[in-house]
Amino acid sequence: TTVGVPRESGVGERRVALVPKVVEKLVARGVGIVVESGAGLGALIPDDLYVAAGATIGDPWSCDVVVKVAPPSTEEIGKLRSGATLIGFLAPRTAPESLATLKAAGVVGFAMEAIPRISRAQSMDALSSQGNVAGYKAVLLAAERSTRFFPMLTTAAGTVKPAQALILGVGVAGLQALATAKRLGARTTGYDVRPEVADQVKSLGAQWLDLGIEAVGEGGYARELTDDERTEQQKRLEEAITGFDVVITTANVPGRKAPTLVTAKAVEGMRPGSVVVDMAGESGGNCELTEPGEVVVKHDVTIASPLNLPATMPEHASELYARNVSSLLELMLDKEGALAPDFDDEVLAKSCVTREDA
Ligand code: NAD
Repeated sequence: TTVGVPRESGVGERRVALVPKVVEKLVARGVGIVVESGAGLGALIPDDLYVAAGATIGDPWSCDVVVKVAPPSTEEIGKLRSGATLIGFLAPRTAPESLATLKAAGVVGFAMEAIPRISRAQSMDALSSQGNVAGYKAVLLAAERSTRFFPMLTTAAGTVKPAQALILGVGVAGLQALATAKRLGARTTGYDVRPEVADQVKSLGAQWLDLGIEAVGEGGYARELTDDERTEQQKRLEEAITGFDVVITTANVPGRKAPTLVTAKAVEGMRPGSVVVDMAGESGGNCELTEPGEVVVKHDVTIASPLNLPATMPEHASELYARNVSSLLELMLDKEGALAPDFDDEVLAKSCVTREDA
């Protein structure tokens, strides 16, 4: 089997689907790796490290399997040959038209975001690996934009109180944000509509904010709130938020627009100089005043909505992603390293989103 690694074409996409360490492992497994020249450059990984790991530099698009990070452009889909396998984030929920193009091109597509979140597939869970990177980076961004310290300081010039940081939506990214804010010295509080998160929040030394609204949905995710619940939640959050210097929001409901948790009124109630980092910008944002991709100041509060945060920490994001991809690949390889996906396997059946006969 040959596996091709193209250079990502998306604006600002600095990740790469395989890193040299993982290439080495796959080569040992009998897989041939072809890396496009410059594929690792966004992550500052030069071609010669790939060559040293056993890859060749060449045209990745004629390989049996092409591994990518971002969904393919129309032009990239055109370079895939019929019968080829494509592994990457394919945005099956948000870009159904590109799935149709892939299927018409005879490409077998595996979407990393469609891998079921079961224990056996944890090593392949790219939503989690990238969520971790994003949660960490969101806190650094908040610290950079804050007009205040995170840690408590006792100095000759006086004492500085520690920042109060509130994380709204405590899934994978939120847990990492709580841990990171704590390491920087902030007092942390977590909030979610899934009550089982309370113990995880407390185990990270954070307070649990209980607003008395539960909304557990399917598969461990939250469900969308009813109109009444949403109004109630926004009202209670408006009161709670006033005491926080930093608010980081990560709330998402699969396939829906992100819920509005932080209203304009809530922002108005924050102390001047406070920061909101809205990590849900890609799905519309959790803050009413968010402008996706921008940093704005409203009511003297900075509201940042960074997009594609994992791409801003490309080496480790790529390394973790590459392990996810290679675990999925391993599942499709037989003993000799030949591609032999068993579509009765739940992980492959669910993550395969385009196939000739399906
Ligand atoms: P996500 O990105 O879809 O959402 C982030 C958080 O926002 C979630 O915790 C969600 O409950 C919360 N949220 C949604 N609407 C909200 C609202 N109106 N108010 C407040 N909070 C709201 O979530 P995720 O990080 O992808 O994780 C979701 C679930 O998947 C979690 O239960 C996690 O434990 C589970 N998971 C399981 C595995 C596994 O078993 N292998 C791996 C990773 C994640």
